[in-house]
Amino acid sequence: MSEPQPPVPVASGPGPACLLCGAVAAAPGAATLTWARERDGNGRDRWLCPGCARRHVRDIEAKLAHEWW
Ligand SMILES: [Zn+2]
Repeated sequence: MSEPQPPVPVASGPGPACLLCGAVAAAPGAATLTWARERDGNGRDRWLCPGCARRHVRDIEAKLAHEWW
């Protein structure tokens, strides 16, 4: 038996994917409360999952481009 799957939001589409590890938020609303959102130079949103955000919080605060992490 597999675990019951959480309901997938229909209208809002898939949640953001983590910039670093590729994890996808289950829902754009609830999950992203714990995710870190960065706005890059092109005005695009970049998301970090809670694990990666914790690991890279100092890099984020230093405004390092993620290529340098
Ligand atoms: Zn991640």
